[in-house]
Amino acid sequence: MVRMSAYIYRQMLTSAPSKGDAMSTTPPTRDHVVVVVAHPDDESFGCGSLIARAVAAGRPVTVVCATRGEGGERLPDPATDHLPLAEVREAELRAAAAVLGVGAIEVLGHRDSGFDGPVAPGALVATDVATLAEELGGLLDRLAPTEVVVLDGRDGHRDHLHVLAAVERALAARPGVRLVESCLAASLMRRWVEEVRGAQPDTAYLELDPDTLGRPDEELTALDTSAHLEVRERAIACHRSQRSPFDDLSPELRRAFLGTDHVVVREEVAAAPTATRPG
Ligand SMILES: [Zn+2]
Repeated sequence: MVRMSAYIYRQMLTSAPSKGDAMSTTPPTRDHVVVVVAHPDDESFGCGSLIARAVAAGRPVTVVCATRGEGGERLPDPATDHLPLAEVREAELRAAAAVLGVGAIEVLGHRDSGFDGPVAPGALVATDVATLAEELGGLLDRLAPTEVVVLDGRDGHRDHLHVLAAVERALAARPGVRLVESCLAASLMRRWVEEVRGAQPDTAYLELDPDTLGRPDEELTALDTSAHLEVRERAIACHRSQRSPFDDLSPELRRAFLGTDHVVVREEVAAAPTATRPG
């Protein structure tokens, strides 16, 4: 994995033509995309097609991953069973990011909170949103993205919701940076629950109320990302230590999830109203 240095980014940012300069033959390099996720695998399972699409358009992409995924499930694998899960999953993240064409990865090293259960000391959700927003804000100031991509958290994972809240808070203080929420369409989630109920009856996601899973389709913009399906499938396959949420799905539903991305684009993130007025 080639790590793009801050120096190279600065060079790109200072030498790039202005956005929309139609006469220029230099590829636009100002449109830096920063993808902020909670766990290794979110970059592939969650928004792999958006990353591949941005890379194909010549945009530099950085992935910021808040944890090393040590709270996830683990499949037995003689090749890696002796290694700490965090180490295995970070290596999978780096391999998948290379497949997707990601230029740089920042792993923050918070502890994976897990889907449910007691919150361990140092867990991501034990870090308050303001503190996490400050940490992310410092990174965003250095990376200077025009766009931040985040999962919308409608799969019910508490770490995803926590990252979304921190990103929103960081961007509310940084006007001019677009937020793209990578969303799960409610219609697809209803089909997913039906198919997974038979194949993976133990998955924790089935304990959630199906009506709360996903985002109403009418709120979403659908992007045809089928051109990036092959790259995304290869990135997903890098996460060997676990089953993907798309395993065991019918070919039709798998393609519906992976060949179309659903997004909500927010040109500005409004600052949260303050609870009290000064004075
Ligand atoms: Zn995740």
